[in-house]
Amino acid sequence: MKKPGQTISKGHRNYDLMLNLQLGIRYSVGKPSSTQPRELKPSDFDPKEKFWTRFPPEGSKMTPPHQSVEFKWKDYCPLVFRHLRKLFAVDPADYMMAICGNEALRELSSPGKSGSLFYHTQDDRFIIKTVKKCEVKVLIRMLSSYYQHVSKYKNSLLTKFYGVHCVKSIGCQKVRFIVMGNLFCSDYRIHRRFDLKGSSYGRTIHKAEGEIDETTTLKDLDLNFVFHIQKPWLKKLFWQIEQDCEFLVAEGIMDYSLLVGLHFRDDVFNSKMGTSVPYQKVCVLNESDPGQEYFTEFSFADSWWRDTARIDDREPMIQLGANLPAMAVHHQKDHGSAKMYQVILYFGIIDILQDYDISKKIEHAYKSLQVDPNSISAVDPKLYSRRFRDFISRVFVEDD
Ligand code: ATP
Ligand code: CA
Ligand code: CA
Repeated sequence: MKKPGQTISKGHRNYDLMLNLQLGIRYSVGKPSSTQPRELKPSDFDPKEKFWTRFPPEGSKMTPPHQSVEFKWKDYCPLVFRHLRKLFAVDPADYMMAICGNEALRELSSPGKSGSLFYHTQDDRFIIKTVKKCEVKVLIRMLSSYYQHVSKYKNSLLTKFYGVHCVKSIGCQKVRFIVMGNLFCSDYRIHRRFDLKGSSYGRTIHKAEGEIDETTTLKDLDLNFVFHIQKPWLKKLFWQIEQDCEFLVAEGIMDYSLLVGLHFRDDVFNSKMGTSVPYQKVCVLNESDPGQEYFTEFSFADSWWRDTARIDDREPMIQLGANLPAMAVHHQKDHGSAKMYQVILYFGIIDILQDYDISKKIEHAYKSLQVDPNSISAVDPKLYSRRFRDFISRVFVEDD
């Protein structure tokens, strides 16, 4: 399958930026001090520590010659990120090869509204996102508690951050970017993706079924699935989301999303949805009792996922946010019926660098004049978190 995005080759408007970024990361990760990192000290989290390096085209003692114009490179809290990469089991050589190897990065046509650029490594393991200065500030401010949080909760669903950098070429604006883990890096193909905030205002992409494909990111109002998950996993999931949200509230963060990817076990979404497939069960909604809408004859007891999702509290076989088997129940508005699909879910909490700053408060006040304040994405972090969790508890339910 052709991967989405445009490979950045010579002549691309961001070709130089990509070269600078690759040179910078190769330099940062490959430094001799990088191979044997020492223990972290509080000063390693200090944003005032400056790590600017000059990259002249002819090369220097520290940097190799290159074909781009001269630029400066900044590493934010490099030692902390080195430890984070280790914690997230990212091998330094793999990291460097994926980002700085011979294969060019792919630029995705801006998936968000913010104007950020997204680059994927060819192996799809890492995503590089350009961010605003205020987002870097938020990340650095929360870095110490983020580090503690992800060290404490191995199943945390928060975005995995691997690095924060800045490039400044002569005559150009500074470009700041983060390197993070791609939630959808998997051997399984992701057929559908949803970006869920729990708010409703503007949360649809206004596309007909035929215009939606695997690269489309659908939103809250486009979601017509409910995911049935085995009880132990569901409990784990809700518990983890509570811990992660508590962290986000404490940091004053809002506007984040639960990004959910679905792999349909039988690739049915490649053909037209709703074609007949062996595992699909059609059932009629019970109008008088919507809570009891599903199946009399279908039993999950001996289905494939009992084996796949065996839970072992000491060492889970499945990581919480990746590979989680579920039954997706698809509601068909027009038919009053539902269809079930065996799916594998991938998810995580993304876009966690927005605090409830003055611009978000103004957005809230302004939109509140037009629509129900509760439906707006921009709300106070506490309220945001409660609404987010409420929404998730309606979308992910227990298999009975
Ligand atoms: P906005 O602020 O307008 O919501 P943004 O530019 O900050 O957008 P994000 O919300 O971070 O962008 O991401 C936009 C889309 O990019 C997501 O909906 C998702 O499809 C994809 N994406 C972002 N982060 C990841 C990730 N870690 N793994 C996989 N896909 C991602
Ligand atoms: Ca977002
Ligand atoms: Ca954003």
